This record gives sequence, C-alpha cells and structure tokens, in this order.
Amino acid sequence: MHLIYGRIRSISIVEISIVYNKYIMKMTHQELRSAFSKFWISPPRRHVEVQVASLMPKDDATTLFTSSGMQHLVRNFEGMPHELGRRLFDIQPCFRASDIEEVGDNRHTTFFEMMGNWSLGDYFKEDQLAWAFQFFTQTLGLPKEKLYVTVFEGGCGVPKDEESTAIWKKLGMPENRIIPYPASKNWWSRAGVPDEMPVGEIGGPDSEIFFEFDVPHDVRYSQHCHPNCDCGKFLEIGNSVFIQYRKKADGTLEELAQKNVDYGGGLERILATLQNNPDIFQTDVFSKIIGNIEEVFRQNYISEHASSIRAVADHLKAATLLILEGVTPSNKEQGYVLRRLLRRSMLKQHHIVGTISSDALISVCLDGVIPTYKDVSFLKKLLENNTSHKTLISSVVKQEVDRFAKNLKTGMSMISTMQKIDGKAAFDLYQSYGFPLEIIEEICLQKHISLDTQGFKREFTKHRELSKKSSSGMFTGGLADHSAQVIKYHTATHLLHRALKDVFGAEVRQEGSNITAQRLRFDFKLSRSPTQPEIQKMEEIVNAKIKEALPVHFKILKKEIAHSLGASSFFKEKYADMVKVYFIGGSEGDPSTAYSKEFCGGPHVSNTSEIGPLKIIKTKKIGSAMIRLYAQ
Ligand code: ATP
Ligand code: MG
Repeated sequence: MHLIYGRIRSISIVEISIVYNKYIMKMTHQELRSAFSKFWISPPRRHVEVQVASLMPKDDATTLFTSSGMQHLVRNFEGMPHELGRRLFDIQPCFRASDIEEVGDNRHTTFFEMMGNWSLGDYFKEDQLAWAFQFFTQTLGLPKEKLYVTVFEGGCGVPKDEESTAIWKKLGMPENRIIPYPASKNWWSRAGVPDEMPVGEIGGPDSEIFFEFDVPHDVRYSQHCHPNCDCGKFLEIGNSVFIQYRKKADGTLEELAQKNVDYGGGLERILATLQNNPDIFQTDVFSKIIGNIEEVFRQNYISEHASSIRAVADHLKAATLLILEGVTPSNKEQGYVLRRLLRRSMLKQHHIVGTISSDALISVCLDGVIPTYKDVSFLKKLLENNTSHKTLISSVVKQEVDRFAKNLKTGMSMISTMQKIDGKAAFDLYQSYGFPLEIIEEICLQKHISLDTQGFKREFTKHRELSKKSSSGMFTGGLADHSAQVIKYHTATHLLHRALKDVFGAEVRQEGSNITAQRLRFDFKLSRSPTQPEIQKMEEIVNAKIKEALPVHFKILKKEIAHSLGASSFFKEKYADMVKVYFIGGSEGDPSTAYSKEFCGGPHVSNTSEIGPLKIIKTKKIGSAMIRLYAQ
C-alpha cells in the first residue's frame, strides 16, 4: 500500500496573522513557575513539592522516558503511602517520543514541562475543579469566557461523570461550554478505555480545560470547530484525571477505596494563553532558541519555514537535555531517539539552508537552549553533574553530524531521481544510509513522492529475522514453516495467550504451541475443563483485537526491562541478556500500553487485521491439568 499523506504541515494564515502579539509577555516562564508553586503551597491547599523525576526514569524500567508528571507516582495511586503526604505538586520535565511527528504544529513538542498536582486519596472532584479554575481565572487572570471544559459522557458500562458536570455548573461554567466526550477522549488508564483495562488496572474519567484563542477556525481541519478540533483555535491547557476505579476479574469496575486526583497542564501552553497567542514557540521558553536559529540559519521564523524551525527548536532542546542526561546516539532505545532528533534537525537545516553545519546546531544548543533554562532547577542540576557540558554537547552533535551529513546528501540526491519509493528502496536508505523512517517520510512529503511504509516495515522485519536467525540459530516457537498462514496463526497465538489471561486470570499461562498452515494448536494449564462460555469469550476477545487492526511491533530489550514491562516468557527457555519482545497494540513510544507483550523470535504479521477471523474449533484435556485447544 502506498501511503497518502493527509497531515497538514504548512503554516496557515491564521498562525501568521497573530504575530502582532509576539512581544506582549504577561508572565515569564519563571514567574509562571513561581505562581503555580505558590498557589499549591498556600492554604487551604497546603501541597508539598515532590522532587521531579529524571527525564529517563531510573527506577522504572517499563518506559524509556518520563512522559507525564504522575508516572513516578503510580504506586502511590495504588495505595502505597507517599513520604511527603497526600497533597503533592511539581513541575515535571517530560519527553514524549510518540509526539515527534506532531512537532511542527503550534502546540506540540517532544520536550515539555507538566505542571502537576495530586491528591492521594485526599480531596477529590469538588476541590480539584474549583482550584484548577481558580488558578486559571484568578491567579493567572485568564478570562472565564475563553475557557471550555470537557467531561466523560459515560460508556463501556461506566456512568457519565455527572459529578464533574454539576461542579462546573456550580463554578459558573455555562452549560454549552461543558462538553461531554466518550472514553476515547475523556478516560485515563495506562491500558486505554475501560474495556481494554486488564484485571487490577486502575483508571477513571477526566475533565480537560481548553482555552479559546481569538483566531478564526482553520477549515482545512474540520467543518466545525470544537475544543477537541486540531485546527489550533482551542488549546488543551490542563487535564484533571480522577483515578477512582479498578478493574475486577469479572470485567466490571469497582470504586477504589483511595480515590485520587492526577492533574497535569503544559507550562508552554499556559504561557501561550497568557499572551493570547496560540503558538507555544512564541513564548519565552523558545524566544532565545528561535532567535538563535533565525541568526545562524539566516532565516526568519515567520515564513514558510516556521514549522521546520519549530522542529529544530524542539529537537535540539530535547537533544541537549538527553545528552546532559548521559545519552549518546546509537541504534537502540534512548540512543536511537536522540539520533532521530539530531538527524531530523540536520534534515530541516538542509531543507532551510541548503547545507548542514554542526557549528550552527551546536550554537542553538549552547547559546539558545542552555541560557533559556539556566535558572531552572532541572537544568541547574544537570549542569552541576556536567562541568564540561559545552565540550560534551559539541562533541556529541559534531560526531553525529559527521556520521550522517554526507549520507543525507547522497540519499537526498538518490531520492530526487525516484518517482516512488518501494519497501526495498526505503529499507536500503535506512540500512545503508542511516535514514530513520520518519526522515524518509518527511522527504517524500516535501517532494511529493509516494512511499510504501508497510513494505518498509516488512523488509525491516524480514531483515531482523534473517540476521537474528543466522547469528543465533533462533528459537522458532513451534512454527512448521514461515508461510503467510503460519505467520498469521503465530500472531493469533499471542492474542489467544493474552485472551487466556483476560478470561482465566493472569496466572494462567500458555504451555506450548504448534502451528501448521492448516491450524494452530495451543496448550495451557488449567485444573478443570474450561466451560463453553469461557472458550467463546476467548474467541470473542481475539476476534475483537483482530478487528481493531492493532499494529504489531517488536523491540530488542534487556531481559530485565522486558520482564518489568510484564512481557510473558515461555517454556522455561533460557534467554540471552538481550531479548526480542513482540507488542500488539499500544504506542511504540510506550510499549507498556500494548495489549499483548511476549518474548518471541517472530515472525509476525504487522497488523492484527491481516489475521482474519479466528475460530476455536475444539478443546480437550490432555493431562491432569493441561488443556489443548485448536483454532483455525
Ligand atoms: P494533546 O491531545 O494536545 O496531545 P494530551 O491529551 O496528549 O494532549 P495529556 O496527556 O492529558 O495531553 O497531558 C496533560 C497536559 O500536558 C496537556 O493538557 C497539555 O497541556 C500538555 N501536553 C501534552 N502533550 C504535549 C506536547 N506534546 N507538547 C506540549 N504540551 C503537551
Ligand atoms: Mg497527545
């Protein structure tokens, strides 16, 4: 399949027309930080500031980066007391690799700061919504008539969040600005909507606050504008999550004894509202950085290059911080993310300026990023640990430029001779020239060349399989061969394994499998015979996941990390230190959100929709506590 790009990357007239606001700065980022801290510390709120987590969580191996303020408090939501009490706040530096493709619009960055406050079983909706509203309207002085709020409209067997609706009305929010949305928008759990939550998982409804800017709706995005529209007129500036439910074994949700509040609001976006300018890149956490780029690239920000300049500003900011955290560019985990940030910056520089210069990129890091945050505690701490930070940043950036700049030019001129890029050509650019996929996508978008992304992914998987197998004589997971049907059944086996746990509990596990092109066989331990409704439930779950067209991907991870992600391992296998884990569903940036996670050599389909409907044809008892199931 050749991909048609539907994303809108060019800068709209709307965004350029608000430039007159550029120098109206109502609050600096440091003033906003102080206002937020003072608000939560003061009575009657009396919150205590928690120490922010590192951008790369040290004691949580389930994710590569800290992507929200609450990430390091999950165990406290589950009931573990926090040493600083039940009312906490902080301003957490976050990194979302999954937002890298969003960068270029006026409100997404990979690095941002989340201003958060939490109640661990203390106050709940009434106080939280009132205080969030008070902070925005009184402390910051945002006009009430510019605010909209959303509430959970109910669904998946959970009632509408009437409480929050009533509280917003009481606070004076007109009914037509309290907008209900379904679970896909207004529900939080690590696993997704209520139906997707595994047994034991906690979650709940949320209520977001949006700011409406004085700019016209951009009709290229949707016919009608509403708070969740992506045109940029409305900006989400805060989200209060009410973690009040836990999933029970029977699939229903029970109210938690400890009901929690988890609030997060983006500092950059709130600064933007204070200027009544929807472009977060025109706030003072970016002014020095963008000013520096304008100078070294000799290119004005307000131009057709604005979105490329935004990407460079964000990526070099994030890269600077990751380098100071000790990351170096590599082909895996955080190192690969850093590599992508730096290579994308080079691509944009090449696009704007026509050449690649490491000096210019280094200058943005040292003269733009560092001075912006020099008085903010997270950077101060990083600089204390890196007395020769200038040398470190310069050498990492220069080395990566030296590695990639020549290839970028060669690859670009190769691409310019092509009408379309098939999977093999894309993989060659990746393998021989070091082009991350999104860079190839970006170039294709610029040059209006079609790209076979799925073909690239197939080549990628094939190559990984071949190289892994030739080096380790790999475990094939009971596969008869690697025909297309066998591969489909293999992925179906992973879905069955997860459905098995959903139906019989997490402790029930697959004991073996055998797959031919005609059928799959799947053994599991159970002390009794499964009932017909239980088998039917498993089949339904598997088919629902097939229908959902979930992406399948894998990561090579340290064994300990894979275990801590909750990935299932098998057959009392002896695994090497680095293992391959297949994920079904969830985001690639945050594998912990996947529906299924399994140690496995592959191969697999790249999307569950390829499997087609699956039928469990029979089950039988094959030992005192062993069940064998056949499916087609
Ligand atoms: P969006 O839908 O705009 O991407 P989100 O739903 O992903 O936002 P949350 O996960 O609820 O956001 O994060 C809480 C707050 O953090 C948001 O209200 C927003 O202010 C801010 N935020 C989230 N993602 C980003 C980002 N990529 N860049 C800047 N700020 C962000
Ligand atoms: Mg988002």
